Amino acid sequence: ALDLQDIHKSYGSLAVLKGVSLTAYDGDVISILGSSGSGKSTLLRCINLLEKPTQGNIIIGSEILKLKPNKSGELQAVSNQQLESLRARVGFVFQNFNLWPHKTILQNIIEGPTQVLNIKKDQAISDAEKLLDKVGLLDKKDAYPDNLSGGQRQRVAIARALAMQPRVLLFDEPTSALDPELVNEVLAVMRELAEEGRTMLIVTHEMRFAREVSNKVVFLHQGVIEEMGTPEQVFDNPTSERVKDFMASHR
Ligand code: ATP
Ligand code: MG
Repeated sequence: ALDLQDIHKSYGSLAVLKGVSLTAYDGDVISILGSSGSGKSTLLRCINLLEKPTQGNIIIGSEILKLKPNKSGELQAVSNQQLESLRARVGFVFQNFNLWPHKTILQNIIEGPTQVLNIKKDQAISDAEKLLDKVGLLDKKDAYPDNLSGGQRQRVAIARALAMQPRVLLFDEPTSALDPELVNEVLAVMRELAEEGRTMLIVTHEMRFAREVSNKVVFLHQGVIEEMGTPEQVFDNPTSERVKDFMASHR
C-alpha cells in the first residue's frame, strides 16, 4: 500500500498542497481530478520526491519517510539512499514521455534495472523484451524514440516504468500530449495494468476512462481533497457544488 499522510507543499509563500491524506491499497486504481493549478502534478511529484513535501509522511510498503520540519521550519534531510530506495518503488509516467533520445528503446528500458537495481544485463534485456512485447512494441526495440509515434513513445515509457518493478505507478496526464487517434492505444495498456491488479494513481482528463478503470476518484481543489469516493459517488452524486460544476462542464 501507499499511504500519504498530511502532505504539504509550499513554494515560498505559495501553499500548493495543504494537507493531503490518501491511501492506495494494493490493487487500487485512483484517478485524480481537479482544475488546472489545483496541485495534481505537485501531489504526484511529491510521492516520488521529484518535489520534496514541506511536511507529511509517505509510507510505501515497509518504507516510511517522515518529513517533519524542525523548529526553524527546515526539513530534515532525506538521505540519498532513502531517496533512491523510495524512487525505485514508484514508477512515474510523464505527459511528455521523457525518454533518452540518444538511447535505443531497449537501452532506455534496461538503464534503470541495470544501473539502479543491479540486475545483470542479459536478464534485464530478456525482461525488457517481455515488457516490450506486452505493450506491443517488441519490433521497435532497436529504434530511437524520435522514430516512434507519441503513442508508441508513451507505451515505451510505461514499459520502462514497469522494468523497475515498482509497487506503485504514477501517471501524470499520460495521454494529453497525444493526437486523439493515439490516445486509445495508451489507455488500453493502462487498462490492462489495472486489470492485472497494479496499484496506480492517475491524473487524467479522460473522464470515461477514469470512471471505467478506477475504483477510487479524488477531486483536488486548491491543494486539498474536495471530494473522494467511488466513481459512482464522485461522477454521479458529488456532494460538493464545485465538483458538480466540474462534472457538468466535462461531459
Ligand atoms: P494542470 O492541470 O494545469 O496540470 P495541476 O493541478 O497539475 O495543474 P500543479 O502543476 O500541481 O497543478 O500546480 C499547482 C500550483 O503550484 C500552481 O499554482 C503552480 O503555479 C504552482 N507551482 C507548481 N510548480 C511550481 C514551482 N516549481 N514553483 C512555484 N510554483 C509552482
Ligand atoms: Mg499538472
